[in-house]
Amino acid sequence: MESRSHHVGPKVRDVNRAPAPKWQEGEVIGIVVETPETNTLKVRLSEPTGYLAGQYFNIRIPVEGRPRPIQRAYSVGSSPTEGLEVVDFGIRETEGGLVSPVLVRNTPIGTKLEVRGPYGDFTWQEMDQSPVLLIGAGSGVVPLKSIIRYALDKGTDVKMALLYSSKSAEYVIYDEELREMLSKAPWLRVYHTFTRDASDATAHYHRRIDKEMIAEVYGQLEPKLAFICGPPEMVEDAESALIALGMDPKMVKSEKYD
Ligand SMILES: Cc1cc2nc3c(=O)[nH]c(=O)nc-3n(C[C@H](O)[C@H](O)[C@H](O)COP(=O)(O)OP(=O)(O)OC[C@H]3O[C@@H](n4cnc5c(N)ncnc54)[C@H](O)[C@@H]3O)c2cc1C
Repeated sequence: MESRSHHVGPKVRDVNRAPAPKWQEGEVIGIVVETPETNTLKVRLSEPTGYLAGQYFNIRIPVEGRPRPIQRAYSVGSSPTEGLEVVDFGIRETEGGLVSPVLVRNTPIGTKLEVRGPYGDFTWQEMDQSPVLLIGAGSGVVPLKSIIRYALDKGTDVKMALLYSSKSAEYVIYDEELREMLSKAPWLRVYHTFTRDASDATAHYHRRIDKEMIAEVYGQLEPKLAFICGPPEMVEDAESALIALGMDPKMVKSEKYD
């Protein structure tokens, strides 16, 4: 399966004018275990190209029994404000998958990976519209965290809200970092929903993201721009919900992890 992305909304400036990215070597220089199925790989690029918060790279690796390396898309979880040489990829193991289980379970520090990027216009910069609603499920939070970190580092005070679905507290990617950013950013709200733990009172909701939930968060933020990232079905349902609430479809950006 080839990775694809789907985009609506304004085109990216700057980075899209650069020449098409080429494959380069990236070395894994750090690993952070985020959840039982997700690791952050800190990858040092041999030829840092620059990127915008929310963009992704392709990673390709040799896979046993396959004549050619297999590539998949992975969003950058770090922000360009943290430096361009090392990028963080937040990778969730898809059971039975060809690439992600290798990246999560069998990619030690020192591994050399082939990476190519950046790609995508699922990006936010300080001159873009706000308030900003971010909706993510599972590893869909990766580019959304990059956007929040970017906004924080840039010293903006635009209103942002993250509606984030995880199985349970144990599966919240970037839990600690989200708390740290919340403590520094009075303009930020984070609404957790846990789909497999109905009793954890630290979550605002205990079900999958649905239109009633989106309407509640929407009503509190009144967003002008929205970013939705995660499994295709969730992304499509959330897009429809936001448009039904009155958002301009051009202001609803989405990234489907299919
Ligand atoms: C723009 C973009 C950004 C992304 N960013 C991230 C990110 O930041 N983090 C992240 O974790 N993911 C991200 N993804 C998803 C990622 O690209 C991969 O799709 C994901 O890691 C799964 O790849 P895989 O090779 O492990 O699984 P695949 O080999 O693609 O398999 C996926 C599933 O299909 C099943 N399958 C495969 N072949 C068959 C078959 N023949 N019959 C039946 N079932 C089959 C597998 O068992 C598995 O469950 C992103 C995707 C896109 C498009």
